[in-house]
Amino acid sequence: MKFSDLVLAYDRIETATRRLEMRGLLVDLLRAAEPVELPELLYLSQGLLRPEYESVELGIAGSLVQRAIVEATGTPTEAVRASVRETGDLGLTAQRLLLGPPARSSAGRSVRDVYEGFAAIARAAGPGSQEAKVAGLVDLLRGAGPVEAKYLVRFAVGQLRLGVRETTLLDALATAFGEGAADARGAIEASFNASSDLGLVAGVLARHGVAGLAEIRVTVGRPVRAMLAERATDLTELLDRMGGRTALEYKYDGLRIQAHLPRDGPARLFSRRLEDLSAQFPELVGELPKAIGRRPAIVEGECVAVDPGTGELEPFQEISRRRGRKYDLDRMQSEVPVRLFLFDLLLEGDERTLELDFDERRRRLEKLVTETDRVALATQEVVADLPAATAFFDRAILDGCEGVMAKSLAPGSRYRAGARGFWWIKYKREYTHTIGDSIDGVVVGAFFGRGRRAGTYGALLAAVYNPKEDRFESFCKVGSGFDDAMLKELPGRLAPYRTDTAPAGVATGLVPDVWMRPGLVLEIRGAELSLSPNHRAGFGRIRPGAGFALRFPRFTGRFRDDKSASEATTAEELLALYNSQVRRATPTDGERAGAEPPEPLHPKA
Ligand code: AMP
Repeated sequence: MKFSDLVLAYDRIETATRRLEMRGLLVDLLRAAEPVELPELLYLSQGLLRPEYESVELGIAGSLVQRAIVEATGTPTEAVRASVRETGDLGLTAQRLLLGPPARSSAGRSVRDVYEGFAAIARAAGPGSQEAKVAGLVDLLRGAGPVEAKYLVRFAVGQLRLGVRETTLLDALATAFGEGAADARGAIEASFNASSDLGLVAGVLARHGVAGLAEIRVTVGRPVRAMLAERATDLTELLDRMGGRTALEYKYDGLRIQAHLPRDGPARLFSRRLEDLSAQFPELVGELPKAIGRRPAIVEGECVAVDPGTGELEPFQEISRRRGRKYDLDRMQSEVPVRLFLFDLLLEGDERTLELDFDERRRRLEKLVTETDRVALATQEVVADLPAATAFFDRAILDGCEGVMAKSLAPGSRYRAGARGFWWIKYKREYTHTIGDSIDGVVVGAFFGRGRRAGTYGALLAAVYNPKEDRFESFCKVGSGFDDAMLKELPGRLAPYRTDTAPAGVATGLVPDVWMRPGLVLEIRGAELSLSPNHRAGFGRIRPGAGFALRFPRFTGRFRDDKSASEATTAEELLALYNSQVRRATPTDGERAGAEPPEPLHPKA
């Protein structure tokens, strides 16, 4: 297929207003392509070069794309910038600037040529690679007509804007290649869920039809899309939905990890969103083969931070410090040790176990795993009545989990990749009942924002006041609850408090990007108080080496300009709040519903 034909189809798809119309256009496009070029066409149309889990990136920054437009069109940089300011879209800019006759005819350029061009840009690495990437893009642009240029540039900056979602592509594939087959859509979706690779599925479909999909197997190195849970509002509903009997597990508050273990060698770890996390958790990569006897294998679990001293589970904020990290990996391994709690088995030896019922999968998992310091089985109990379920739930909360996950034991309880349903039901503690009132926190530091928040602060370090020591002690990093207008004005509002060094009288285990003298007071709400070595509020009062940390903190939108820093919530008040919450964690469901609301921290005037 010619690239010029592909972009004409893109143009129609982009302006299609109805899903049905979009699907029809996609079906025509899929049918017009050669089977061998279908995988590439599918990836390109999703704005990708390879399936998402491979994380292949072009690695070309917006500024370099702009430079390529300057070079390819011979337009002065200033004129390109002006056009981008006007259109807000580098792609449209390229289209406009290329409205003249192309320097070279692009009539013959195929989808495959363009794909190869982008693949070469992605491969360029090391010294001089930036120049090579720009040159590669200039080359693609020089041969392009205006509409082609628009999509080339949009692809390069990662904003294809076709608006085609996965479900629409699956529908279109079923219509284009599934004719005559029973439940083609279901079979196609199942293959995608098992392989996470739409290009692969499309290629097989085009060559061998729906029957050929059976050749796509669950394979080590290719993540299976995660099975998801529905929720219940209480344990009674949960038991009802499970037919009165279920396997309850701790619902750990961490990162989901799907671990792929080849026959020999280190494991590969994937996140729920199919990112490769192997580099961030080298200790698991090394340890998993020791814990899992029979390989190849694919297992799934939740990875949680544990207290280095006590081994107790830490809240999500702790493990999130290890996510996306590229440096200091060794230091982080000892600072934030983790444990992986395994709860499922998708492949054992060469057998795909995800087809087996849940109790059989769990039985096999238990046989397969030798627990180590870093790899364990998820705590589980089969319950058949409310008192047993409630007791298990309370134990989960006291052990630092966010609730329970129920797994169906009914026949047919296979692993449903990529699907959400009542085969798994989550029930979390009702956080909102726990912290009844807001906390007035003093800003003592700020962290620079990234992405959408570049140029302003992404989060603020908040503290409570300890009048005995005349000290401000940190208890959370708050980044949510700020709207765009507030974010914009934050740097100005905080400017009077900025200081180059840690201010006297501020106690925290964190180092913000910018320190602030205590002065500005914010109203913050949160889910509950937990303990963390990073914070100094009530340090050591409950557990040595840890202070209170507010989970899921959120700015209410109220700056307490009416309060001075020393009128903020005190450390003593946090202690009272923590104690009331521990007492409240134990009552059963029924009791909790009728419980008194907690004492407000600041009685309403
Ligand atoms: P949620 O993110 O609230 O929709 O809850 C689903 C998530 O809970 C899963 O994706 C897992 O990351 C996590 N989880 C924690 N413990 C378990 C468990 N025992 N079984 C399944 N998922 C769990």
